[in-house]
Amino acid sequence: MYIKSIVLDDFKSFGRKTKIPFYEDFTVVTGPNGSGKSNIIDAVLFALGLARTRGIRAEKLTDLIYNPGHEGGDTSSGPREATVEVILDNSGGTLERSQVVNAAGSEDIGDVDEIRIRRRVKETEDNYYSYYYLNDRSVNLSDIQDLLAQAGITPEGYNVVMQGDVTEIINMTPGSRREIIDEIAGVAEFDAKKEDAFEE
Ligand code: ATP
Ligand code: MG
Repeated sequence: MYIKSIVLDDFKSFGRKTKIPFYEDFTVVTGPNGSGKSNIIDAVLFALGLARTRGIRAEKLTDLIYNPGHEGGDTSSGPREATVEVILDNSGGTLERSQVVNAAGSEDIGDVDEIRIRRRVKETEDNYYSYYYLNDRSVNLSDIQDLLAQAGITPEGYNVVMQGDVTEIINMTPGSRREIIDEIAGVAEFDAKKEDAFEE
């Protein structure tokens, strides 16, 4: 499974609907400083709900909405809603149809060769709202996280390696480094369950 493309709409510096295609094996994004390269990674973390334990570089969720004021424009007239959709290629069958149906809570999800996860954050006068969709069906964050975990994608995992992570791993004690390897290999989950069982 890999990211086929992402579609950003009023997310951070992407003030209009932008589709970014990715290749299966390797894609490089280049551009001058401040042109929005890291914002693309932020968009992936945001949409897949992976941002809780890793930085998404925003103090509050509503800072992720495109703000024309960032470029010296009028701040008061901007959009109050941002959307990111991540389109995953599942044609290899990493996730089975039944798993996707289960997460979406519906049979009506179309073809699962393509899994589309969309998140929207909307600001109102005195509040903000966050919505998740799986192949256009409204779902909860936990549905997305449970589904992605079945494909080995978790907030604790190193599916997304952030700036500074590599240095951090190099400087770690061997014990902590081992914990990361356990996490990636999926052993940590069983260790935790074993510990729980012993406590009982
Ligand atoms: P570098 O090469 O320095 O790492 P980069 O290409 O990774 O740069 P980003 O950090 O992705 O750049 O983009 C930063 C830009 O995004 C800044 O110019 C900032 O003004 C803009 N930006 C961040 N949030 C918003 C927002 N809500 N609305 C509009 N622009 C935003
Ligand atoms: Mg950057």
